[in-house]
Amino acid sequence: MLLIKCPYCEEERPELEFRNAGEAHLVRAAPIVDQSDDDFAAFLYFRQNPKGLQFERWRHIHGCGRFFNAVRDSVSDKFLTVYKAGEPKPNIEQLVAKAPTPAETAAEPEQKRAPRAKKAEV
Ligand SMILES: [Zn+2]
Repeated sequence: MLLIKCPYCEEERPELEFRNAGEAHLVRAAPIVDQSDDDFAAFLYFRQNPKGLQFERWRHIHGCGRFFNAVRDSVSDKFLTVYKAGEPKPNIEQLVAKAPTPAETAAEPEQKRAPRAKKAEV
């Protein structure tokens, strides 16, 4: 099971405590009454959904309940960083430079993942 660090609780918790809330840093361009239907539909429904690094909103729904942002690689499912809502976007190039190489990741102990639940004995 994947562990995600909540920037408010400041601890890693199982992914089951969290819910993805979509793309982060969405900004509405103009008041709704000034937007065309097509522009509003594009704002409401269209997302970038890139393959690789993306900015996402997450909610610690079974913890503190707060929203936060994360940079996650959609290919490897690894979180590069998490940060509180309202904080500026981190520089992705700096995060990639600091990220461990695949060899370093393979050498990490299994403590990054939560232990599996034991099956009930029958
Ligand atoms: Zn939390």
